[in-house]
Amino acid sequence: MNPPSGSEKRRPTSSQSSARLRVRLTAAAETIVRGGHPWVFASSIRELNREGTAGELAVIYDRNDQFLAIGLFDPESPLRIRVLHAGKPVQITDEWWRARLETTLAKRAGLLDAQTTACRLINGESDGWPGLVLDRYGGVLVLKLYTVAWLSRVPMLVELLRGAAQPDSVVLRLSRNVQAGFAPAGFKDGQVVHGPAISGPVIFLETGLSFEAEVIHGQKTGFFLDQRENRREVETLARDCDVLNAFSFTGGFSLYAARGGARSVASLDISAHALAGAERNFALNRHHEAVARCLHTTIQANAFEWLEGNPERKFDVIVLDPPSLAKREVEREGAIRAYEKLAFDTLRHLRTPGVLVAASCSAHVSADEFFGAVERGAKKSRRQFTLIKTTRHAPDHAASFPEAEYLKCVFLRCD
Ligand code: SAH
Repeated sequence: MNPPSGSEKRRPTSSQSSARLRVRLTAAAETIVRGGHPWVFASSIRELNREGTAGELAVIYDRNDQFLAIGLFDPESPLRIRVLHAGKPVQITDEWWRARLETTLAKRAGLLDAQTTACRLINGESDGWPGLVLDRYGGVLVLKLYTVAWLSRVPMLVELLRGAAQPDSVVLRLSRNVQAGFAPAGFKDGQVVHGPAISGPVIFLETGLSFEAEVIHGQKTGFFLDQRENRREVETLARDCDVLNAFSFTGGFSLYAARGGARSVASLDISAHALAGAERNFALNRHHEAVARCLHTTIQANAFEWLEGNPERKFDVIVLDPPSLAKREVEREGAIRAYEKLAFDTLRHLRTPGVLVAASCSAHVSADEFFGAVERGAKKSRRQFTLIKTTRHAPDHAASFPEAEYLKCVFLRCD
């Protein structure tokens, strides 16, 4: 066999011998990886020539001793190898990483312009960067890592990004489960790893609307860029309407509805902090005549409870975008029932004619299961609905394998 020798310069640790980490998989896993799936679970590993360390390149060979794939090893995670490349043997060199970044960024060409200064530049596995997300907010890049396998490569990533994207700053965000792993190397969540310190939110433009992103401490990377296309759609539906934005966060949908000519918009969220952000985002956009004319109010409440009660509050358009209701597979059935009830409760607040925009970001609930739940909730409300459209992932959040698909949204008209 002819092992591709990844020539990354890496200091061997005490437990790491110089021999390349070689892996063989179960037959089923071999087929899955050959089919392009980026995940290898610990339970699928049949043979390992030695113990591997975090971030080592692991070379996967098939049953005929032929190169199958190469990926990042993570001894701590059940998701043991995240595939970087499958197919013909390659050398993972500095040049390989640079070329991969160039290819990824080229896919975003045309998304950013003078009116839109934020988007997702790298969407993890689906872009060939497993466990890594990169969002741009104006001159600030936010690099979010979901595995310790990237730890030794942070300096290389920062150098690559400086070369390819010329950011003013790069902020490192770490998912909760990897923070302890990064700490001994001196990295912490919210650290500015390139450029001047960032105090306060970063202001960016999305289709001409200004928003704050809380890049240091905010949820995800500071804003929900994944809903941009659905927000644009809501803008087209809002003229002269009273709009409720439930689970509003910092008012993304609210601002689009306002610019679309809504008479009033109520942003409903449990977080006072998020609602204060929504108020500031409205203040940032007063120069848009329609935004200035729109009456914006905030409701700080548990949306599930608020929607169950308050029968006197009626709206022409309602946006429902709750947090994930199924973070684990065992929560899937409960989440489907919760979506149905939420849709039913919400429709009691919808005037006729009216439009319901319901989104789900639960990866464990499929699009069909979610649309089915909303439809059952709508049927129970005994009103007539027509489907306007359903949507999935935005182009900068494209998902290349089933587990990466989380976002789905349905637009229903009630006549
Ligand atoms: N639609 C938003 C993103 C929503 S994220 C956008 O486009 O930017 C989910 C939001 O739900 C968060 O702001 C969180 O504070 C809020 N949330 C979570 N649980 C809630 C509850 N029980 N009631 C109301 N809001 C809740």
